[in-house]
Amino acid sequence: MSTSDVLHRQLDRRLPTVVSGSGPYLVDDEGRRYLDASGGAAVSCLGHDHPRVVEAIARQASRVAFAHTSMLTNAPMEELAHRLIDAAPPGIARVAFLSGGSEAVEAALKLARQYFMEIGQPERRYVIARHQSYHGNTLGALSVSGHAARRAFYAPFLAQNVAHIPPCYAYRHQAPDETPEAYGLRAADALEAKILELGAGTVAAFIAEPIVGATLGAVPAVPGYFRRVREICDRHGVLFIADEVMCGMGRSGTLFAMEQEGAVPDLITVAKGLAAGYQPLGALLVGQRIVEAIAAGSGALAHGHTYMGHAIACAAGVAVFDAIREEGLLHNVRRLGGLLEDGLRARFGQHPHVGDIRGRGLLWALELVESRDDKRPFPRAARLHAAFKETAMRHGLICYPSGGTADGLEGDHVLLAPPYNAEPAHIEEIVELVGKALSTVL
Ligand code: PLP
Repeated sequence: MSTSDVLHRQLDRRLPTVVSGSGPYLVDDEGRRYLDASGGAAVSCLGHDHPRVVEAIARQASRVAFAHTSMLTNAPMEELAHRLIDAAPPGIARVAFLSGGSEAVEAALKLARQYFMEIGQPERRYVIARHQSYHGNTLGALSVSGHAARRAFYAPFLAQNVAHIPPCYAYRHQAPDETPEAYGLRAADALEAKILELGAGTVAAFIAEPIVGATLGAVPAVPGYFRRVREICDRHGVLFIADEVMCGMGRSGTLFAMEQEGAVPDLITVAKGLAAGYQPLGALLVGQRIVEAIAAGSGALAHGHTYMGHAIACAAGVAVFDAIREEGLLHNVRRLGGLLEDGLRARFGQHPHVGDIRGRGLLWALELVESRDDKRPFPRAARLHAAFKETAMRHGLICYPSGGTADGLEGDHVLLAPPYNAEPAHIEEIVELVGKALSTVL
């Protein structure tokens, strides 16, 4: 038992204390330096100590920090909304600002339900999500998450009107004689089957991560999957929520990951990269018809939190957005992403315990398996991710290993999400340190 008064996530070990950060590196109180190759959990997309963001926060704090958004608006919130709407897919009309990803997902689910109440369709009461997904840890967001291990304790508290379909996970579900396109259509058609099973006219929304992050590790959908999803949602009057909390704000190589899918969602959630970890900030982008229905109906959001639209958090968001644009970082994400992919494939492509290497932009993962031949995961008792995280840190690397949404359905994975402004040498160092950790653990 540690002597800390903080109720840490792990009670059985003492965590190093971080004291400073610069670029992609963090330093602890014993002077150890870590290459932060995952921005924690894909958060720190500009690395640490970015002067533009630090200055924006200080400037806003000296003007005004907090004023309740049911009474007053503030300039940074308006400016950030304007930038996001300008950059968002057509049809997205307004933005609400929350304090993180789970809150953004809660707001999306509640707004979907409010929309159908406003337009006189109260029988639309189901949400469809996907197995092995992660949408957050508050009870609503956890209800739609398909992460068995995280749900286990709370089953009686979770919303009942949620159904799950399989994810689009080609490494495990694409048949050997199937093209990616045919697999994508088959995977998407599971949505239509579920809508019909629940009853056409009873489903409010479908929620999915364009690139599955925390649970499976950087799994993009195959081409055509989300176009088919959009068609199915349109056919049955179902709202499509794209959860871009992890893969949005440039992480995929475009500002929104859905830009690469040829389909426009009705609601988009973003968080992590939005303020790059400099402030807690999430956002919900909302389609025109939803805004119009509320304006013509009750005229008010039924949902809200005290810290919505916090001026300092939004000021950080504006500075991050401008840095991404003015420093040409989307281009950098694509360029460095190519280097990271090449490095991972060259180094681990034939590794006996690396079953799959996948990702997009600067979001990449290795799936670790006991047997490459039959893709057999390591047994639960031997799950590696905790050991991998500790070993990597001993080697001076921060990455985001995870695994175990449900026994036997997937291997452990190691997620990498370096900052958009990293240098090619950092990418080489990441591959090198992952190799060291892997050979120590396996
Ligand atoms: N949605 C997705 C896709 C996520 O990856 C996460 C966090 O990992 C969340 C929602 C929850 O975000 P937060 O941890 O900021 O509440």
